[in-house]
Amino acid sequence: MTLIKDGFFDADELKILPGVPSEERLKKGPVVVIECAQQIPCNPCEEACLKGAIEIGESIVNLPKLNADMCSGCGLCVAACPGQAIFVVDMAYSQTEATVQLPYEFLPCPKEGEVVAGLNRAGEKVCDAKVLKVLAPKKFDRTAVIKIAVPKNLGMIVRNIQLKNSDKED
Ligand code: SF4
Ligand code: SF4
Repeated sequence: MTLIKDGFFDADELKILPGVPSEERLKKGPVVVIECAQQIPCNPCEEACLKGAIEIGESIVNLPKLNADMCSGCGLCVAACPGQAIFVVDMAYSQTEATVQLPYEFLPCPKEGEVVAGLNRAGEKVCDAKVLKVLAPKKFDRTAVIKIAVPKNLGMIVRNIQLKNSDKED
């Protein structure tokens, strides 16, 4: 069985990943969503989490397992993942919006307050998204962590952004 169809996850595939929190946990507030399905020797996510919420276990090729109750949604692990497979989702942000923290490696970086396009896992534009925060300290190397607000029903859908004035925009 493969977890990946057409190069990205569908909703059912996500549910069986050990790094994806339950719907009940998602409703409670910010929590990490680890969309990692490649059994490769890799563990920066485990090392980045100071709370011990991510466990790879004895074999370094294990998929990262999340203990969602230990996760504060701090986002430290987002920039640490070389596969750009980690997000933080807050489904309790407001009555109408969720927030998503995602890794971003393009230049220029969006600015706080800017409205960008929210893209799904297939790279299709699904909404406008407001940039709430841009974190790009030196220790994150070339990966910025962008926090965006999206319509609440798209918190588990939006996984990338595109700047409005980007050449890539259709
Ligand atoms: S968001 Fe923070 S607390 Fe949660 S798994 Fe990542 S590093 Fe750990
Ligand atoms: S750092 Fe990223 S790619 Fe590596 S095991 Fe963790 S989630 Fe997977």
